[in-house]
Amino acid sequence: MKDFKDIMAQIPFIDAHCHVMPRGVGKYASSGKPFAGHSQLAGLLLGYGSRMCFLTAGLPQEVVNLIWDGSMDPEECKTEVLKFLPLVEAALPVVFCRRGMAMLTGYEVDEINGDNWNHLDVLLAESGTGGDYAHLLSVMERDNITKLLLNMWTSWSAAYYGRYLDGLSDMDRADDSRAYSTLATFDSYAVAPFTEPTREYARIVGADAESFDGYDRFIEELADFFVLKREVKGFKISECYFRALDYVPVEKEKARAAFRENPSEEQVKTLSDYVTWRVLEQARRLQVPVQIHTGELWGETKVAQVSPMHLETAIRAFPDVKFDILHGGYPFMAELGILASNFRNIYLNLSAMPLRSMEQFEHWLGVYINTVSANRILVGTDVFNVECMAGCIDFIRAGCAAVASRMFQRGIASEGAIRRLFERILNKNACELYGIGDMSIMP
Ligand SMILES: [Zn+2]
Repeated sequence: MKDFKDIMAQIPFIDAHCHVMPRGVGKYASSGKPFAGHSQLAGLLLGYGSRMCFLTAGLPQEVVNLIWDGSMDPEECKTEVLKFLPLVEAALPVVFCRRGMAMLTGYEVDEINGDNWNHLDVLLAESGTGGDYAHLLSVMERDNITKLLLNMWTSWSAAYYGRYLDGLSDMDRADDSRAYSTLATFDSYAVAPFTEPTREYARIVGADAESFDGYDRFIEELADFFVLKREVKGFKISECYFRALDYVPVEKEKARAAFRENPSEEQVKTLSDYVTWRVLEQARRLQVPVQIHTGELWGETKVAQVSPMHLETAIRAFPDVKFDILHGGYPFMAELGILASNFRNIYLNLSAMPLRSMEQFEHWLGVYINTVSANRILVGTDVFNVECMAGCIDFIRAGCAAVASRMFQRGIASEGAIRRLFERILNKNACELYGIGDMSIMP
């Protein structure tokens, strides 16, 4: 069977959804501090992607918290994590951490256990500068990744776009823009009234966000700041962690009544609808896409609510806004495929799928390729650290190569057509959608 691995390796990858943040932001952030524990290895294994595997295997949340904030001694961290590791060692986020760590430290292990734990921990502490620009750029270069479309944690966002970027040296600034194009989280939770992150943003843009009329203007001022001053390439809506995405237009006076310090549940929904609608208006005005988290489940929402189907009203109301729908809406992949067959402003972003299951990734990539126009499929990692990124990228390329081989075998497309298709999916589509300049494939 024809092998497309070499072709995939030659295509410079643009990670269409990534959270590998520059570490330096942590010291400016008011909450969501970076890992402060004693064991680097425990911190890595309990990172965002793999933590859920451990939690659902039975590791108590309180133990994770103690490990993360440095209140547990290293030997105890090791014992606690190793108790559950055998149950989740085939979970892909854990596999990618292990593989990436081996690639970056040069210490190859088949499994992490009590015998090699301490040695790995030391190696990680030595190389563990994840998010440091030089380290990040060297990993990107090695793995032929030309750009990360970075989405900051909501809690780090104001710090990054404000004090952090203002304070960067010219050299770090240049490295920052070499590595990243960014998407700012901009939804009613990211700019919730009367909260510290919103006040910080209001200070940055010189707005008054304490009265409703001021807050209403602040949304426009912040949108301008993001796009015109910080060259943000798109807005990100992450509210799926808290509510279904059944946005509807809301009259201004109803929103005004809901703008208060202790709103009822109904008022929270009303204001959230209003704010998100306003954000979508800004995206239309400033001509930037909106990336939306759907599917998966890291928050309080019920499983049925994470379906991208809830977005239909908003997608219909904003035909000029490009909606980049994350994670294929997993497990609602088929529904999203049908939505995308009916609306040309929907883009299918298969980020995080490779962390879930390679079978699922390959299956749905194949389905979308057959049903949706080739310019609307993107792939991303959704990882939070360089180790996981390094461990994941070969799998992504191998998954693409497997899909390509089957297409070729079935006579669906020629080698040339397949190459053009994957140059789009792994690179060009992200460039076009987010206007990230000339990332031309090859001479
Ligand atoms: Zn994500």
